[in-house]
Amino acid sequence: MSVVCGPLKFGTQPYSSETTDDGQHTTDSQEMKKFYLTTPIYYPNARPHVGSAYTTIVCDAIARYKRMCGYDVAFLTGTDEHGEKLQRAADVAGIPVEQFVAEKRELFKDLWRTLGIPQHSSEHPAGYRFVHTSQNPAHRTAVQWMIRQAGKAGYIEKKRYEGRYCVFDERYVSDNPEPVNCDICGRPAELISEENYFFRLSVFQDRLLRLYKDQPEFVLPDFRMNEVKSFVKGGLHDISISRRRLKWGIPWPDDPEQVVYVWYDALTSYLTGIGFEGDKRSKDFEKYWMGAEGPSEVVHMIGKDILRFHAVYWPAFLMAAGLPLPKTVFAHGWIYYQQDKMSKSKGNVVYPDNGIADGRGLVLHDKILDLTYPAKERARLGNEALRYYLLRDTPFGLDGSFSYEGLIQRYNSDLANGLGNLAKRTLPMIRSYFDGIAPSPVQQQASDSETGSLLPRIASQSRTYAVNRLASHEFSTVLTEIWRLISGADRELNERRPWAITDDPSQRDRRADVLGNAYEVLRFVAVLAYPVLPLATQQLWTQLNQRECAAGVDPRSLQWGQLKPGTIVGKAEPIFPRLDKEATLRKLRELADEDRAREKNTKEASIQVESQSEQKPVAPVSTPASGGAGDSAATDQKITIDNFAKIDLRVGTILSAEPIPGATKLLKLQVDIGTEVRQVCAGIAEYYKPEDLVGMKIVLVANLQPRKLRGVESNGMILAASVGEQGKPVLATFKEEVPNGTKLK
Ligand SMILES: [Zn+2]
Repeated sequence: MSVVCGPLKFGTQPYSSETTDDGQHTTDSQEMKKFYLTTPIYYPNARPHVGSAYTTIVCDAIARYKRMCGYDVAFLTGTDEHGEKLQRAADVAGIPVEQFVAEKRELFKDLWRTLGIPQHSSEHPAGYRFVHTSQNPAHRTAVQWMIRQAGKAGYIEKKRYEGRYCVFDERYVSDNPEPVNCDICGRPAELISEENYFFRLSVFQDRLLRLYKDQPEFVLPDFRMNEVKSFVKGGLHDISISRRRLKWGIPWPDDPEQVVYVWYDALTSYLTGIGFEGDKRSKDFEKYWMGAEGPSEVVHMIGKDILRFHAVYWPAFLMAAGLPLPKTVFAHGWIYYQQDKMSKSKGNVVYPDNGIADGRGLVLHDKILDLTYPAKERARLGNEALRYYLLRDTPFGLDGSFSYEGLIQRYNSDLANGLGNLAKRTLPMIRSYFDGIAPSPVQQQASDSETGSLLPRIASQSRTYAVNRLASHEFSTVLTEIWRLISGADRELNERRPWAITDDPSQRDRRADVLGNAYEVLRFVAVLAYPVLPLATQQLWTQLNQRECAAGVDPRSLQWGQLKPGTIVGKAEPIFPRLDKEATLRKLRELADEDRAREKNTKEASIQVESQSEQKPVAPVSTPASGGAGDSAATDQKITIDNFAKIDLRVGTILSAEPIPGATKLLKLQVDIGTEVRQVCAGIAEYYKPEDLVGMKIVLVANLQPRKLRGVESNGMILAASVGEQGKPVLATFKEEVPNGTKLK
């Protein structure tokens, strides 16, 4: 179904307004607020997978929500086309690099189309705008302008640079010419010695620290702000921002021998994407970006691995150019595959456009989903299941885990049995008992009386909660709360059994109360869940026979009992038909396998995708428990003491340590834990020399499932702190003498 919304009526509510239980909200200003939201620009060297789709899905949901709240929204995504890596990939593919990147760009646009994320148009004013970089003359002008401004202000100087650089990751690995392997990909880094341009980042230390203090929401979540602050407090070095030896990139102004450093180039795309071209600036740029000191809010949504560039470099580049700063850089976590990092070499990359939402829909084919469902309808089911699952199961800001089981489970329990079933029960009863006319619900005042219902109160609480939490993008808790309301309505139907009430006119009111309440709950849910489930909620909205679009209702104005008397409900078409879990899983796995086999055979297979957001993540210290020993995100999740007690932590002494051939990061250790000697593989080879480890006291997780790493059995995990953005491991040890085998608790 396709519903085109007419022009929406806009409120004038500010971003920060809070809603009370009565649905009242305050307004600060009569001017329509602006909201400018960006995803990172994606590196188009390979096909986008679930991890790269996640940020865009999140942003689409946020853009839709802000639009509902009456904001004038601009939403930007795009591709980063800088770098030798693309040149190499194009060479491998045997096509000119310009053509290569142009084709890759389309892959991303295709994916957004498949995922139902609309492009900017008069019909979808909050749809995405798309920016691309190196091939774009406007962007070139914009970047050169930024560099010139910084130069004029005295923040750029020419110096000799010597260091080690990883071409694969496009990053400096070390400021020292000694040979070293890239600490991210493990490849040997190349030695560079060149005269190039430096940005004087060091002089921005105080201004940045003041920014973090004055604008605490500049980096969210809070724990990420702490990381950034401690990095900046540790002292900033000037950074090299040009390259002599790269051909593919934006030429340095007045020195065509050099090209501009990738991050100066990439970050500036946030300006280019809304019409910035140096001195030539569009109305949109003036409105959204220059308005950032007034009625406009600029939010960058990024993966946690590129936080430093956005929270340290970017504000400094903007300050150097005299431009306003964004309001917030929000760093979210990664999506793991069944607790494991997705990587092509592990063969566990999940592509969102296969098996989930490839136009054939979530479950595809006659065997599983009834073919009477039109293809478009099947695509909707797939998209919305994916959106719901990712946003519901990943507390925003923390890492999430993708599994097909989880997806089907959520689909069946929340979408089919929860929302879909409530609609399927309620609407036909209204049709058969009330000639299709939705009865008025119980009013809130009546709800505390002895026959009263708790639903008016729960609905009002859910709305307040959703509105307040959506302002900080907490989709997971908001969806939990909305589904609490759905369960409440289900419970009331089960307890008050409207189908068992006799037709006695004196009983008719009781039945009207129950069904009127269920109807109101569905109306609330259609509005509140719209940003996450835009198509299903609209379908429901139409069945409820509400006017206009669910998207056109400001969630903050939702009030219990706004139903117009005499509203006739439509026919209840199933919104989310239930799936056969086993059959669906089998089919999804088959499709994923076929897909990987196809991928393997393409030339692109040589270009590895090793990270979520195309910037490289840090490998865990020891792989048996992935996510890293010291992932700060994990500290937010509380567990009970009983859960903690399940972990068997023992003191041990390292007896020997040796490299594993072909694995640059791993060391094979023999560890004496008192009762036995354990063999453990630990990802610490880049930071510890084997000889320095022998004799060291460590802490071992002794009851992990053994597993093989590079063919070597690993029986336990060694605890280490994970320091800094690169996740440098520092082993936990003891000051006092402790016997081997001692338990930690
Ligand atoms: Zn590397």
